[in-house]
Amino acid sequence: MTRREFLRLLAVSGFAFIVPAEILASGGKGPGKRWAMAVDLLGCTKRNGCTDCIEACHRVHNVPRIADARRQIRWIWTSSYEALFPEEPAHLRDLMGRQILALCNHCENPPCVAVCPTQATFQRDDGIVMMDYHRCIGCRYCMAACPYGARSFNWQDPRPFVQTIDKDYPTRTKGVVEKCNFCEERLGKGRLPACVEACKEKCLTFGDLNDEASEIGRLLGGRYAVRRKPELGTRPKVLYLV
Ligand code: SF4
Repeated sequence: MTRREFLRLLAVSGFAFIVPAEILASGGKGPGKRWAMAVDLLGCTKRNGCTDCIEACHRVHNVPRIADARRQIRWIWTSSYEALFPEEPAHLRDLMGRQILALCNHCENPPCVAVCPTQATFQRDDGIVMMDYHRCIGCRYCMAACPYGARSFNWQDPRPFVQTIDKDYPTRTKGVVEKCNFCEERLGKGRLPACVEACKEKCLTFGDLNDEASEIGRLLGGRYAVRRKPELGTRPKVLYLV
């Protein structure tokens, strides 16, 4: 299906949760960076089963591979379209049954930060929602508050389940919550997130929403985008291009 056909389908079925790009390009805390990621749904769903981005992310962040689904740790994953966009699945019905990429949305209004009793999770000025593993007491309030299932809890020592430990990134311990950090450690070195670098199809675009001339700024200027659960007012900064 071409993009034109796809948009025609959207027009027939309604635009209830399509977010105009100009709304996305406004807001933020100040004049600095406002990091965001765009996932091109049309490109990303072409290669069903592709896990290049997931493997790259989990490798550089020492994310353990745990078979037991109840104990799994995930920073970036895929889930069915219906599971990720449960509100009005008919609006993008061509995507029903497809696997869609998901990760922490680094919400502009993050409920996980509001409930953390120790400030182990906090929001930087550039909008990245961070975890301080040393401050985390494992209460899991943040997990209950996150409406996107973006956080994982270490029910056991994760280190024996990390295939090859990358010494450039800390491992975690039992009793600690973790999640995607938008590769802040790589951004600090002028690099793109590992998932973006790993995507051969160039479906992932990362950049500064405050910079209209950036690649993500230009993309959002010319494409429609959807966000997960917009009715909650969390203002996700992972944007899905249609
Ligand atoms: Fe917090 Fe969840 Fe939003 Fe990430 S997606 S910032 S964990 S509420």
